[in-house]
This record gives sequence, C-alpha cells and structure tokens, in this order.
Amino acid sequence: MTDLFQQDIKFLNGVGPKRAELLNKELQIFTFGDLITYYPYKYVDRSKFFSTDEIDSKLAYIQLKGRISNFRQEGGRGRKRLVADFIDEAGSLQLVWFHAAKWIKSSIQPEKSYVVYGKPSIFQGVYNIIHPEIEEAEQYETKVSTSIQGLYNTTEQLKNNYINSRVLQKLLNTLIKKVMGLVHESLPTYLCNKMNLISREEALVNIHFPGSRDLLNKANFRLKFEELFFIQLHLLKQKTIRKEKSNGFVFSEVGKLVNGFYHNYLDFNLTDAQKRVIKEIRQDLGSGKQMNRLLQGDVGSGKTLVALMSILIALDNNYQTCLMAPTEILANQHFDTITKLTNKLDITIRLLKGSTKKSERGIIHKELLDGNLDILIGTHALIEDTVIFKNLGLVIIDEQHRFGVAQRASLWKKNIQPPHMLVMTATPIPRTLAMTLYGDLDVSVIDEMPPGRKPVKTMHFTDSQRNKVFGFLREQIEKGQQIFIVYPLIQESEKMDYKDLEDGYESISRAFPPPKYAVSVVHGKMKPNEKGISMKHFVEGRTHIMVATTVIEVGIDVPRASVMVIESAERFGLSQLHQLRGRVGRGSDQSYCILMSKEKLSGDAQKRLQTMVHTNDGFEISEVDLKLRGPGDMEGTQQSGLALNLKIAKLGQDSQILQLARDQAELILDSDPGLTKNENQVLLQQLKINYHKSMNWGSIS
Ligand code: ADP
Ligand code: MG
Repeated sequence: MTDLFQQDIKFLNGVGPKRAELLNKELQIFTFGDLITYYPYKYVDRSKFFSTDEIDSKLAYIQLKGRISNFRQEGGRGRKRLVADFIDEAGSLQLVWFHAAKWIKSSIQPEKSYVVYGKPSIFQGVYNIIHPEIEEAEQYETKVSTSIQGLYNTTEQLKNNYINSRVLQKLLNTLIKKVMGLVHESLPTYLCNKMNLISREEALVNIHFPGSRDLLNKANFRLKFEELFFIQLHLLKQKTIRKEKSNGFVFSEVGKLVNGFYHNYLDFNLTDAQKRVIKEIRQDLGSGKQMNRLLQGDVGSGKTLVALMSILIALDNNYQTCLMAPTEILANQHFDTITKLTNKLDITIRLLKGSTKKSERGIIHKELLDGNLDILIGTHALIEDTVIFKNLGLVIIDEQHRFGVAQRASLWKKNIQPPHMLVMTATPIPRTLAMTLYGDLDVSVIDEMPPGRKPVKTMHFTDSQRNKVFGFLREQIEKGQQIFIVYPLIQESEKMDYKDLEDGYESISRAFPPPKYAVSVVHGKMKPNEKGISMKHFVEGRTHIMVATTVIEVGIDVPRASVMVIESAERFGLSQLHQLRGRVGRGSDQSYCILMSKEKLSGDAQKRLQTMVHTNDGFEISEVDLKLRGPGDMEGTQQSGLALNLKIAKLGQDSQILQLARDQAELILDSDPGLTKNENQVLLQQLKINYHKSMNWGSIS
C-alpha cells in the first residue's frame, strides 16, 4: 500500500503536470501521501447560513445564500479591483476580486442563486468579502454530505491559478475514494487497542471529511498521537544506538583536585539540586559511554559551579577541558570566575578569544599540544582548525542555544574519540519541547536557587510615569545599589534602535548628572576593549548605572546590581525578558525589574508583560511563550538543527498527547529495544519510511 501513497501527485485525476508543479512548489506536495497528510487548518460548520444583516467584521468564515449582480471595475492604478453586489433577503454586501476578474464575471449568472463563502471585512463603511468562494446553490445542495468542512491553507500563487481551499478539498475527495480500503495500518493492533485509536484509514477519511464532531476528534487524536509517537520512537531509538556505539573516556578517579577544591576552597554549600546534577554527571563520566548531557537551570541557579566540578573531575583523570561561551564578555567572566575559584589549585587556565593576540595564541597552541594547558576558556575562536588539543576529554558549552549543531560537532572532531559533552542553557525549555528537540540527549535540571536570594519584584510602568521611575532609581542608588537600563536591539531596525539608545543615554545622563552620579554605556558597536573597560567600571562599582543594549543579556554577574530597567519592554520576547531579569537578584538585597512600555499594547504584548509581573518561574514563562509564539519561533529551536515539520500536532497544545506518545514509545523500546518482535515489525517499517523521507528532504533543500 505504501506504493500508492508514493505515487506522483500528477497522476491524480484533476491534477496533471501543471497543477502538480504548483503543488510541488507551493505546498511541497509531491505524492499522494503528501496530499493526504495535508490536513485542514480549521473546520467550519456549513449547515448554517448567515444573512447579510447578521454580519460583523469579527466573524471568521461564513456562508451566505443569494444573488450576484452589477459587476464593475473600481479603484485606480495598482489597486484595480472587480466589485459585485451580493443580495439576499436581508440586504446586501460587496464581493471583491483583485485577480482573475474576467473569468468570474463571465461565469456568474444574475438570475441564479449562489452560495457565497468567505471572511467578511469592512472597507470604507461597507461590508465586503474578498475573493469569496462561490458555488451554484443547486449544485451545493446536491453535493454536501457533511456539515463540518475542512479549510485548507493555500498561497497567493495557488489562488492566482484557481487552486483554492475548495479545489484542494475536491482533489482530496478524489484521492480518498481512490485509497479507501487500501490504507495500511502503521501502528500495531495492541497499541491501537490500548490507546483506543481508530484505524489509520478511518482517521484519514474523517480528518478531511468528518462524519461527525466525535469522529473528527477521534481522527485528530489518532493522527496527532501517531505523529508524535514516531518522533519519540525515532529519537529514543537513536539514543539507545548512540549509547551502545559511542565509547567514552572513563573518568574513574574522583581525586585530589575535586576533593581538595570541595573540602578546602568552596566557601558555600552546594544546593541539593547542584549535588544531584553533579552526581548525574559523575555517573556519565565514569560509565565508559560518551556523555551527551543538557544542563538546564534558570539564570543564577549556579551552573558555573557544576561546570567547574565537572572540569576538575576531567583534570583528576589527566584530560584537558574546554569551556565555550557565546560572547567575549561572558568568556572573560567565566575566565575570571574560574581563575579566582581555583587560584589555590595547581592548574593552568587560559583564555582564547577573537581578539587574542597572535603571540599569545602561539603560546596557547603550543601548551595545548604539549598537554601543559588544563582548561581553555573562550568563544567561537575555540573551534578554529588551529586549536588542537593533546587529549581533550570534556567540552562544556554555555548558553548552548546560541551555537549551531554544526559548531558543536566540529568540537567533537578534535579527537579520535569524542569528548564528553555538557551543554548548559539558561533558557528554560518547556518539557514538551525538550522532549522533542533534545529527545536524544540526557537532561539534567537545576530547579533550585542558591539560598538567601529574594525573588525579584517586577513592575510595569508606561512612559508617562518615567519621573516616578527615576525617583525610585535615585532612592536605590542612595542605598548603594547599581542599575541596568537596557534598550532593545533588533537587526531590522538597528539604526533606529541605536538612536533610541543614544537618546536614552543622553536623557539619563541629564537626569543623573555628574559628579553625584556616574553612568556607563555598553553596546554592540563599541570595540571589545571599550566595552570591556565600560563593563569593568560598572562591575567594580565605579558607575551607578549601566545603559546597554542586549549585549548584557547573557551571563553577566554583578551582585550589587539590583535594578533592571527594560525600555520598550513590549518589543522583547518573553525568554529575553526573563534572561534580562536574571541579571539582577544575585545579591542578598531586594531586587527589582522595571518594565517600561508605551501606553497602548497589543494583546500579546500585554500578556507577556503580565506574565513577567506575575511569575519568576522560567519554566512557567516558557510555557506561556510556547503558547504565544509556537515552537517555530522559540529561541533555540531554529538552530537546534531539528526541523520538526509537524503536520498536525502542536507542541503548545498537545503536550498531554506528547507525554502519552513518549511513554508508549519508552515502554515498547524497553521490552523490545531492536523492534524485532513480530508485532512490532509494522513500527520498524514505518520508521524506515519516515526516516528515508527525511533524508530525501535533506538532499533536496
Ligand atoms: P548561572 O550560570 O546558572 O546563571 P552562576 O553559576 O553564575 O549561575 O551562579 C550565580 C551566582 O550564585 C554566582 O555568584 C555563584 O557564585 C553563586 N552560587 C552558585 N552556587 C551557589 C550556592 N550553592 N550557594 C551560594 N551561592 C552560589
Ligand atoms: Mg551562567
């Protein structure tokens, strides 16, 4: 049966070579199988007819019945359109076309009744429907068998070539009739029974042409489950294979350095979460298999210390380590922190950045090869070909969402045997997404903050309340606190953003004049050493306020900074707001995050700012973010290298189904890791089909 699904779409009745080309190009539909999995994006109840006096522009798609007449051209150059009147018993509205005008005019007859279908909008006080779907009422009545009808997304190009939602529905009708009775089942019977799933065929029929609400729900569940299940099955299987195959260095010693550091030089207790995570890492490092672990922990949860302990384990076993950070500022900070923490230990640490001088690089390269360098900290510069280690045993990557998969892999290549890998991220990823994106990594979570931290208080003010905010900032400075003021920076409007920053800096310098106050400024256009000096002044407490673009977003640790002011906060995404807020609240004093915005906000912006005021929990925030934006836009997903390409499931909404799918996949692999049992052959087959397909995709794009 798979053969029929793999048939070229051009062979379907009603398609042909020209339409096939369009479907290929516009919707990536190449085969029967692609078309049958091109699901409606929504459904409408077509048993109801609206009348023209019930309309308002907030309505989604509606259908009306009446006559169409009085065709005319309106509008001038560029905006020419064909307009007609639609009239029913209650009144009238306008129908509007920007394309394909001739064809429509000649096919409509004024004395006939039509069913008109579309989304009403209002233009210059008159209701209209742009590019309505039109069908003769007589035909419509003989044809429609179900009252719930699917709507299909199309593109401009398709519409220009008369392929609208209705045409796709017709093609699907033809296709469904063709494959009826021939659709193979992709899940084993025992699983269908257990999960109460309808058959694949029944699901495919009802997702396109629902027999009832209930059947539509069942079809949805079946297809979502199947989609998520196979992703999980694939990821979990990959993970098992990786673990079997990839031997890792065995770090059996927990020796002098770790113990010495822990007992003699660490001047606070680890949190329980830190202890638990270090234990997980130690087990990996001693297991003989290569570690591939993601460490999630909110900003300020103490990931750096976990990194250091892991590094010391590697050193105790005579391996070199490196720690890679996404920015020079952060690399500097890691270097300073780790150098300070380990100053009583006999180890060599060096810093390598883009701006490192040639002579110093020479020394570093030599020491790396000799094995005299224990810890190399740096930026992207670490992945250059000239950086060769004698025996790299452990790689730590901070803020991993900023590095691509390819970059991660190039660090691997530095050894014959891949080093252990620990990637740390402060961007909390909802469990559902982590499961899917990082399903083949092991995940550790630090879910506890070091003791003595007071949660940051978050407040939202509009621009008109600025004087009040400045007053509050002065009070805080009186108390010896330092302040960040951050301006958004997005690439598309960089110039304007820098103007905002400059204006802001000026007005803040005026409101906080010397000699009483000192203000630093840091932004991406400054040279690295200028930035460094400005940062240093602030870190050392010589300036009260730091005005910055989002360059400070990542990882800066200034315990005395207790106020974060975010300008134009409505322009930031939730995860970014949360990251920025994490820059304060590191000392023992009460900290504040002040969100400044304009008066009028969009619904989404309102929701983002409310969420920030309402919670400090990074995971809760990331769940809201996922719901607002969808996974495609979540930070970290674009670069994760895993194109999800989900056709029906939605990670934001279907987390429960995902969990069910994950559990079942785990259960099955536990009892049959190689999927060799008879009843699981169908799974193996489907995995091959899916996997094969995705390989083809890769080579096409
Ligand atoms: P992260 O990298 O997770 O954002 P850091 O590792 O930079 O967090 O830690 C934030 C601050 O908390 C640092 O100043 C660090 O020294 C301190 N810290 C870390 N762990 C503890 C602990 N167990 N007890 C007290 N302070 C800690
Ligand atoms: Mg950090």
